[in-house]
Amino acid sequence: MSILDDTKNVAHLVQEAGDKDLYGKMVDLEMEVFELVQEIEKIKKENAELHDQLKIKEKLKFEFNSYWIEKNGRFEGPFCSKCYDVNHILVRMHLIDRATESFKCPNCATICRRKDFYQKVPLYDL
Ligand SMILES: [Zn+2]
Repeated sequence: MSILDDTKNVAHLVQEAGDKDLYGKMVDLEMEVFELVQEIEKIKKENAELHDQLKIKEKLKFEFNSYWIEKNGRFEGPFCSKCYDVNHILVRMHLIDRATESFKCPNCATICRRKDFYQKVPLYDL
């Protein structure tokens, strides 16, 4: 049984006892407990999201003005640095020119080029 259920049960008992002042206070308390339970659930959800973001952030590598995720010794990407840094979302960039290895973010239109750096770090896959 939850704290909200317990509070409701006590309020019901007070109502049956006929003490209107105490019952009014119990109704107020019940509402406060309800709001606190909602706030706790909201904080738990935000906490889980922050944990997920931290896990992702630990795997991100910034190269070629974009983010890459290391997976099994290889790198996936690129992901838009602007979208991640500003809005905390990972947006896979689209290849728009194979010759220059240029990528464009479908969300914010940021463009990055990989070719200039490719010889330095050949681990990256398109
Ligand atoms: Zn973007």
